Amino acid sequence: MNRIYDAIQDRVPALIQQRLEQTLARGVEGKKEVSVFFRADDIGVPGHNFTRMVNLFLGYRLPLCLAVVPTWLTRQRWETLEPFAEKGGKLLCWHQHGWRHCNHETQGKKQEFGPGRPASTVTRDLERGKQRLEDLLNRRFDRFFTPPWNRCTRETMDCLVSLGFDGISRSAGSRPGPPEMLKEYSVHVDLHTRKEKSAALGWDAFFNELSQGMATGVCGVMLHHRRMDEPSFIFLESLLKAVAAQPKIKGVTFATLAAMGA
Ligand SMILES: [Zn+2]
Repeated sequence: MNRIYDAIQDRVPALIQQRLEQTLARGVEGKKEVSVFFRADDIGVPGHNFTRMVNLFLGYRLPLCLAVVPTWLTRQRWETLEPFAEKGGKLLCWHQHGWRHCNHETQGKKQEFGPGRPASTVTRDLERGKQRLEDLLNRRFDRFFTPPWNRCTRETMDCLVSLGFDGISRSAGSRPGPPEMLKEYSVHVDLHTRKEKSAALGWDAFFNELSQGMATGVCGVMLHHRRMDEPSFIFLESLLKAVAAQPKIKGVTFATLAAMGA
């Protein structure tokens, strides 16, 4: 449960808002520019939360990377999502998430692309995922990969290189590192899962993650729209507003980062 949003009723409390603006201002201090990307996972099924999330980003003209689960996306669903792709254009980076988004590990942490199954089935799932997204999304598909639960093996990443993927996105500090040919765009901030025991500790951790992410020059923020409720949407809007208002922050996608050579 995400306790940090307990304090939010119909608006973000002034102290949190202030802290947010200060954290962003400090993050760009002494820097020419800091890039920030947002990555929304578990995309494929249209719905109210999806619409609300995408409209918020487009309203602030901020980019959003969308990790699509290939088996969740059907032609019919894409027909519902495509108008957003049309409207968002380059602001939206539609890329690949796990084939079925299921865990194949019998012990340890959850992974769809972990060591718990033969490399050949991992390769097959990456290939058919890419094929399906290319067929449905066509030119809207960007060759980047977000592994479910932010974890995968080195073999998975080698396979991504041979399939022509340009980059991967996992949590900051993920091991093993990517092969040289694969860019990595790390996520530092998790907007919807917090493990801290109290809201106060949760906010401390949140602002720490945001500061650390900004210090790297490319800060990644992860969202899960399917888990979002009213308070989390209210906070997201505040965050987007504050990001958009900070002139030294550049909103980016994986595609724009890759084009920048980052
Ligand atoms: Zn996921």
